[in-house]
Amino acid sequence: MAYSDDDKERVLTATDMVALVSEQVPLKRVGRRFVGLCPFHSEGTPSFSVNPEQGLYYCFGCQASGDAISFVMQTLRVDFQEALEHLARRSGIQLIEVSSPSKASKSKRESHLSLLSRAQQWFAKTLADNTVGREAREYLRSRGITQEAIDRFGIGFAPEEADLLQRAIGASAEDFVEVGLGYKDDRGLVRDHFRGRVMFPISDATGRVVAFGGRILPEIQEKSSYPLPKYKNSPETYLYHKRRVLYGLDLARSTIVARNEVVVCEGYTDVVGLWQAGVENAVATCGTALSDEHFERLKNFAKRIVLSFDADSAGQNAAERFYKFEKNFNIQIYVAKVPYGKDPAEVAKDNPELLPKMIEDASPYLMFRLSRLFEGADMTTSEQRAKVADEAISMLIEHPSPLVRSEYLGLIADATKISFSELKGRVERRAKVARRGVPSEDAQTKGRWAVSEGDRAALETLRHLINDPGELSEIVVPQLFRVSEFAELATIVGNCSSVSEAASRLSDVGGDLSDLFYRLIADPPVSEILDVLATFVSREALYELESITQRLKRGDVEGDLLTLSSRIAQARRLVEAIGSGVDVPAHTGELISWLLEVRSSK
Ligand SMILES: [Zn+2]
Repeated sequence: MAYSDDDKERVLTATDMVALVSEQVPLKRVGRRFVGLCPFHSEGTPSFSVNPEQGLYYCFGCQASGDAISFVMQTLRVDFQEALEHLARRSGIQLIEVSSPSKASKSKRESHLSLLSRAQQWFAKTLADNTVGREAREYLRSRGITQEAIDRFGIGFAPEEADLLQRAIGASAEDFVEVGLGYKDDRGLVRDHFRGRVMFPISDATGRVVAFGGRILPEIQEKSSYPLPKYKNSPETYLYHKRRVLYGLDLARSTIVARNEVVVCEGYTDVVGLWQAGVENAVATCGTALSDEHFERLKNFAKRIVLSFDADSAGQNAAERFYKFEKNFNIQIYVAKVPYGKDPAEVAKDNPELLPKMIEDASPYLMFRLSRLFEGADMTTSEQRAKVADEAISMLIEHPSPLVRSEYLGLIADATKISFSELKGRVERRAKVARRGVPSEDAQTKGRWAVSEGDRAALETLRHLINDPGELSEIVVPQLFRVSEFAELATIVGNCSSVSEAASRLSDVGGDLSDLFYRLIADPPVSEILDVLATFVSREALYELESITQRLKRGDVEGDLLTLSSRIAQARRLVEAIGSGVDVPAHTGELISWLLEVRSSK
């Protein structure tokens, strides 16, 4: 590890876990904890739980657990160091590096990121330059892009010359090529990858620039003797994975979560245009189709995904994949009403007030497909109408939900003027064939720690201990627990100086013990410790009394019978006093001493 444990502790202490999680899923306070829908598995009712005092989380559905660092690692898909750095930046903490074998690779990554950040600054400076940047600024203005948007999105300009950037940011040829800013030409000279282009920095989810997208200036495209692509992105590098990165996600994230809706476009200019029109929850794929990885990521942020593509590209997407995502991730896919033949950036320029409405009026994906079919179809004769109905049914039966299917049947009946019952019969026949062999839903996973009624008091006591070890570890000692996992957990917690230390030790241990710990920490007790402890200790004492009685019957006891019977009498008296509510704290304390004595003499 390149950072000290001290740093980790400082970062964890400074991080407000509820605020951190709330950037991705809305949370609600319930008693001493916060709950929400789990970002790690798809669900309809919340089973994700955050303990705000300890900064730890646990999901009662999928058993995901951990602290702020593991949360960032899993949701933003970064490694430990990146997560730590992200959280440190977030809280304004300066990390202290310690040398380690991994430092070399870490500092390479760091220096590459800083290279990309310097490139971004240089592009921005060039755009602002009176002479060099003029044409680019005029182009942006002609596209309706404001200075405010230029600043927010860090837009810049790469001039036409072949090798300005590399010299300007002082990069070695090797690094320059490796981060995707340049390439070697046939004579072995390093050239700038982006030339004559308006530059859009592409950041990872934590807001660090990992790549660029460049839009060619029209003048340069026109005077070029060979065809230049309109848009050009950085090549794939170890920092930039096209199938995973979403342009603008770092800036839009909190709005996306707050609105539970994300607008997905195809280009960076679409995102900028939407933002200018007040739609602040838009992101863009960068020159690739919407991938499974994109969905995997988006499902953590919002349940409503609005595709804001031009109508043709939206129509070309594979319906089957979308329905699978909707089902697996419990999300809904909508298609925005983008005017035919236009993309959002063009609408933003000509008719910006239309954009928010376009998103608001988005239709469910199936509705979008059916409308397109009906709009373009000739339905003059009854044969033509039957053919369109057949096509519509083909679309309908791809949808996995019978409820949704019957919902849309009326729409098809209206459009094709074929009777509802006739259509219904056709759908049922075809759906039956299509759906044969689809496996049933997985059985619900059951909790591993369903304890018996007798162990409940023990579990509740353990819950108190884990949530407040400072107060309780002197009193609630491991020997009190008969369930071996409970005793083991009490031992670990008792040996750690803080809950977060115990948490990280248990994360290392993993397995059932770690699961039990997080389960109890994620759901802090609402009961009174004294009530719980008194019940627990009384139960344990009764158990020991019973066991002594059994042994007495078998003659299986050593030592003085008189002492033994006075011991039994003492415990009976204490249990009774506790049961009738007489001086409970003192009697509970005495009973604990009694128990420990009996158990240590075994
Ligand atoms: Zn979960």
